[in-house]
Amino acid sequence: MTQLRTRFAPSPTGYLHIGGLRTALYSYLYAKKNNGKFILRIEDTDQGRYVEGAVDIIYRTLHETGLHYDEGPDVGGEYGPYIQSQRANEYLYYAKKLVESGHAYYCFCTEERLQSLPDVNGARRYDKHCLHLSAEEVERRINSGEKYVIRQNMPVTGNTTYHDAVYGDITIENSELEDQILIKSDGMPTYNFANVIDDHLMGINCVMRGIEYLSSTPKYNLLYDAFGWERPMYIHMPPIMKDAQHKLSKRNGDASYEDLVKKGFLKNAIINYIALLGWSPKDDSEKMSFEQLLEKFDIAGINKSPSIFDPVKLAWLNSLYIKEMTPEAFAEYATPWIEGCYLKNFDKALVCKLIQSRIETFGEIEDKLRFLAEFPPFDSALYDNQKQKTNADTARQILPLVKEKFTQVSVWDNQHLYEALVQLAEAQGLKNGKVLWPARVALSGLAATPGGASEIAELLGKAETLRRLDISIQLLK
Ligand code: GLU
Repeated sequence: MTQLRTRFAPSPTGYLHIGGLRTALYSYLYAKKNNGKFILRIEDTDQGRYVEGAVDIIYRTLHETGLHYDEGPDVGGEYGPYIQSQRANEYLYYAKKLVESGHAYYCFCTEERLQSLPDVNGARRYDKHCLHLSAEEVERRINSGEKYVIRQNMPVTGNTTYHDAVYGDITIENSELEDQILIKSDGMPTYNFANVIDDHLMGINCVMRGIEYLSSTPKYNLLYDAFGWERPMYIHMPPIMKDAQHKLSKRNGDASYEDLVKKGFLKNAIINYIALLGWSPKDDSEKMSFEQLLEKFDIAGINKSPSIFDPVKLAWLNSLYIKEMTPEAFAEYATPWIEGCYLKNFDKALVCKLIQSRIETFGEIEDKLRFLAEFPPFDSALYDNQKQKTNADTARQILPLVKEKFTQVSVWDNQHLYEALVQLAEAQGLKNGKVLWPARVALSGLAATPGGASEIAELLGKAETLRRLDISIQLLK
């Protein structure tokens, strides 16, 4: 049986965006599930859109996320080069073969003539003007240095059908297909031509890509047919939307893998979430490790309908991955976020302990704990809590006692501080909340904080804790 060969063929136009990463992920998973090979090819024939450094981002992202390709520009392989600009000669050779067999032709039409063609719904369809030039005339004009392109000669009657594994049978009337350019006037191939030549020469027998290519695929199939090559299997994927109306797209600056990492999302959570954008496993599980994705991935689970990129769900998944990190792994990952701001002045282990179960992304750490560094005057209405039956009056009575109790605490840690507060409540015949709530407000100036009064006090240290209590007591006078 022929080995399955899938590929990811990004154009190096900037960061690797979510849609691209999903294509890479599905192609990888499908290949690996079927003992196949996953290939990386860089499609850089559109030099106008080339962005310096983008190729390195592609390599880095795929390596980092574990989408290891079996063949590719930086890992080699038997079907190289894996960068289109290094394959330029191949394309011209194959285009000429198509000219010989009548499936393509040279076109010398000037921009001016093309612009004079009738405009039908914003498009000026080429009218096969150069199709019937004699071989002699073509040769003469090429030799005289006239600029030319090579166009595909589309059939004008009949239709072309193919099967897509997700969208079923797709049929297009051949008369709808324009004689698209295969080789541009600079000698470079168009994407529409290069992808077919490369897929064939690289032995790709399964093409997975975004739905935007669904309607162009009949043109590619006509090229396969013209060469007498076997068509690959096609798996087109549903669009990823930003909301009901707008596509998530790199053109409007939507999330890239690296942006998400910078915001504090973990790579496992990103990959897990991306897997769910357009696919669901039979058992409907949501949180899946990379190994589980490999085990569960199947083509039948790819949806036809668009999926919406939901940052809330991604954050939720991320929080699950954060919670299951060991304290050591969490501390290591959190270090840049902690050391890059005012938090560097606090005990890192305590910060980590306080925050690990309370954040959804690492990017939240700085804001969530800002009250450790800033303590502006606050409204005494924050002491109101109906459940705990507290308010500014009860706080006014209890806070001086909290201060006194804390002054006597010799071992300044959460456990001792918590015990001190509970003892105080007991001695006063009060429920714990009547002491804990106002103490936390008095130390943070906030109604909601990660951690309770004793944890905050531990982090602030004795001097700062007592200073804040003094300030809060004064504010109530
Ligand atoms: N270079 C194309 C893109 O980045 C790839 C399309 C394909 O997979 O054939 O959209």
